[in-house]
Amino acid sequence: MSATSGTALITGASSGIGAVYADRLARRGHDLILVARNRERLNAVAERITTRTGRSVEVLTADLAQAEDLRRVEQVLRSNADISVLVNNAGFGAVATLVDSDVDAMESMITLNATALTRLTYAFTPGAMSRGGGTVINIGSIVAVVPELLNGVYGASKAFVLALSQSLRHELGEKGLRVQVVLPGATATDFWEIAGTPVENLPQEWVMTVDDMVDAALAGLDDGEFVTIPALPDAELWDAYQAARQALSGNLSGSQPAARYRRTSATR
Ligand code: NAP
Repeated sequence: MSATSGTALITGASSGIGAVYADRLARRGHDLILVARNRERLNAVAERITTRTGRSVEVLTADLAQAEDLRRVEQVLRSNADISVLVNNAGFGAVATLVDSDVDAMESMITLNATALTRLTYAFTPGAMSRGGGTVINIGSIVAVVPELLNGVYGASKAFVLALSQSLRHELGEKGLRVQVVLPGATATDFWEIAGTPVENLPQEWVMTVDDMVDAALAGLDDGEFVTIPALPDAELWDAYQAARQALSGNLSGSQPAARYRRTSATR
């Protein structure tokens, strides 16, 4: 077995995107800690990877929407100095509109997609920085920029992931923390069944295989990208979107309301 490149902790590693990250990061020389709720599926992923790569793979069952379980995983991130990569991948979505969805389910979605990701990032980052750096890969979604596509709370939770990643990179990017946010489009995983529509119902030209999605995301990581949108054919479109955001940024705060909002006393 070759020397390890450090341990990668991957959430949501029992299936789909997380399981493929586990495979690819092990092939790149990382030992792994795999987190999800379903122990049997985690064990199956771990066994397959150990057989193929000889890497050490630890399984950690936790429901990251439950405070006690989440704290346990945070503790691992704080105490295990071998962890050099955190992949915040666990998440779920929905396709129903606000009136057709249950607010408690929406709250669980926020807890998993946003709160757990935040707490795990907080648990990992200070120690990683003190050891000279580390890598955080946050799995967002294209709905972060187009929340109209699916359930609004799902879109909002992924917009949170993008905004937090932007801020993290701004604060710590030059101090040794590597941050990548991945915005997958439709990817063929269990996600769709759980969200309320089988992936087969989508136009197949929209749907990427999970292997292609993760390999593209890792190619983006290798290229030093901050935002990776695996299906975006023309990266300049994203650059133009960022340029528009930057152009806004110097104009958003001022001591006076903009002229178009000033009313004469007669119209007040
Ligand atoms: P998936 O196959 O359903 O995987 C979701 C993973 O999260 C599973 O390993 C699941 O394992 C785990 N998980 C779910 N709830 C959890 C909880 N409460 N605590 C701990 N782990 C939990 O779907 P996927 O497509 O790979 O999704 C991975 C990420 O990609 C999600 O953040 C999703 O929003 C994002 N994404 C997916 C697509 C897509 O089209 N598939 C597109 C854009 C973004 P257990 O059930 O064993 O806990």
